[in-house]
Amino acid sequence: MKNKKAVVTGGSRGIGKAIVKELALRNCSSVLLTDISFASTPEECAKEIESELGNGTKIFAFKADATSFNDAQATMQEAIDKMGGVDFLVNNAGITKDNLLIRMTENDFDAVINVNLKSIFNYTKAALKFMVSARYGRIVNIASVVGLMGNAGQSNYAASKAGLIGFSKSIAREVASRNITVNCVAPGFIETDMTKKLSEIQREALMKNVPLGRMGSPEDIAKVVNFLCSEDADYITGQVITVDGGMVM
Ligand code: NAP
Repeated sequence: MKNKKAVVTGGSRGIGKAIVKELALRNCSSVLLTDISFASTPEECAKEIESELGNGTKIFAFKADATSFNDAQATMQEAIDKMGGVDFLVNNAGITKDNLLIRMTENDFDAVINVNLKSIFNYTKAALKFMVSARYGRIVNIASVVGLMGNAGQSNYAASKAGLIGFSKSIAREVASRNITVNCVAPGFIETDMTKKLSEIQREALMKNVPLGRMGSPEDIAKVVNFLCSEDADYITGQVITVDGGMVM
């Protein structure tokens, strides 16, 4: 049944783009992605993904800052106007601004909390308005293993991702009676622009903690997100699925 409609934040590159493509291949007839900036234009980004897919699934792209409450409302209105509904919401947009706490600025703390956590409030609230009246919805929030185990130099990021997990479990309880599930996927060490910033020494240290012995790919995450949106996961809510090559056991 490839008839669902999805919204994915931060979907123009990295893990978000892989999620857009996986949902578009498996479960969705249309997907709307958001991003704060685009390499070219939103229209060109959407067209490029449509031609990479080549299966007729409609892709829409919308410029929106995930930290903005008003942009989240506008995104959902765009999803309703362009796709006629929203069945799945994937909150993926995220940033890092790493530093030891003694050197971390207030701006860097606030920026990470706003993009990684406040955005989840903005988009979940905007999407639930439609999902509750439809009596159906699947929400997947992209957390991180760092939100489960902490990481020196990432206190802002760890706080945002741990906060996102608590938020997700609370909303899962609030909306379960409306046939809406809310789950988290916690990636480990995934090959994207975000991890390209790490030094060789940091990479080697991280890899020592990955029993499967390789970095994850964006597709490794996208497959699990798609599963949590699919009917195979209808009885799963309030969970955190780690996809990390065994980093956290
Ligand atoms: P990425 O390659 O840096 O992509 C992040 C995406 O989020 C980009 O498309 C970016 O847009 C978008 N974004 C940033 N700020 C935004 C804002 N204010 N509003 C809307 N979109 C915004 O990162 P990634 O590795 O794919 O990460 C995706 C998610 O996975 C994040 O939540 C991250 O925390 C999580 N994660 C990643 C890893 C990893 O190892 N890579 C591990 C654990 C968790 P621009 O292109 O405009 O900058």
